[in-house]
Amino acid sequence: MERLVRSCYKKKSGYVFAKKAEDIAREYGISKIARLASNENPEPLSPAALAAAEEVLRTVNRYPDERVNILMNALRAYYGDYHFVTGVGMDGVIETIIRTLVEPGETVAISTPTFSFYALAAMGQGAEVITVPREADFSVDCKKLIEKAKEAKITVVCSPNNPTGNATTADDVSEILEGIEGLLFLDNAYVEFSDCDYLSLMKKHENLVLGRTFSKVYSLAGLRIGYAFTPRWLPPWYNRAGTPFTVNSVSAAAAAAALPDKERAVRYIAQVKRWRTRYADEVKFPVLPSDANFVMIDVAPHKGDAVVESLARNGVVVRSCRSFAGLSDHYIRVSVGEDWENELFVEEINKL
Ligand SMILES: *Cc1c(COP(=O)(O)O)cnc(C)c1O
Repeated sequence: MERLVRSCYKKKSGYVFAKKAEDIAREYGISKIARLASNENPEPLSPAALAAAEEVLRTVNRYPDERVNILMNALRAYYGDYHFVTGVGMDGVIETIIRTLVEPGETVAISTPTFSFYALAAMGQGAEVITVPREADFSVDCKKLIEKAKEAKITVVCSPNNPTGNATTADDVSEILEGIEGLLFLDNAYVEFSDCDYLSLMKKHENLVLGRTFSKVYSLAGLRIGYAFTPRWLPPWYNRAGTPFTVNSVSAAAAAAALPDKERAVRYIAQVKRWRTRYADEVKFPVLPSDANFVMIDVAPHKGDAVVESLARNGVVVRSCRSFAGLSDHYIRVSVGEDWENELFVEEINKL
């Protein structure tokens, strides 16, 4: 019966998870694994978020608030008077925005190498994907992007970029916004770890969406909750395209409580800044400059996959970058975790 499955899913592999390396570590009998493959905050969620989630858990016999008011109010209280949409992770937001705007056969332009889900989501929508490669140093060539993406319905730029770590300046983003005819989805999953400020652009541009997530700095990856700053015109259409009651009540309450509870976020951001420098100083391979909570490392002449396997056998799980289309096979991506995890990583990689 598999003939029934759509050809777009048969042609390409799906999202690549970091689980395989964890399995290797476990096979080698290692119980205390350094988890540095998924850019999560190693600290558990804040007590306020936990308490909010526990309280709402008692009410899950009822459907959630379809307007997600608890989180919308928290976002407005925290950021001010902007327009927002929410979703099942930022991934859910990305998928719904594509569903809202892109007819089958229309174009989604993606600045690559980058996070793989944009192309998967666009493909699932029957979109035509065009990729626009970054420069050799992974910066975005705005002129080239504008030329190639001019007529795309949606253009996607990730800043700070996963997996390369570098950010695109607000001036460059502004230039792109003025040059293209469609919408720019600027993925800000890691913006809290950078000094970039794109919010001022929201007031000036009708075609900018800033994707955000609670999965990284806010320690809520398991609750699958994301949001975006949008222009005023978008939310009613987004809500029409989305599934009913998309965001569950527990996740919404936890996220609303986590947002203003800054202590842990501030602590982790300081940890990230400390370790970006330490990785650059202590790892014997070239570490690319990063504005995110991970770094990309050039492990040539080794291959990324081989290094990931070898580290996994020693209890350190990192991500090979081979599956990022448009990137050569000698890079790995390593998150900033707890001190012992990062130290173990440095020790093991320097043995290669
Ligand atoms: C982690 C990540 C996301 C998705 O986050 P979720 O909210 O967990 O879906 C989106 N974009 C990038 C670049 C990411 O690295």
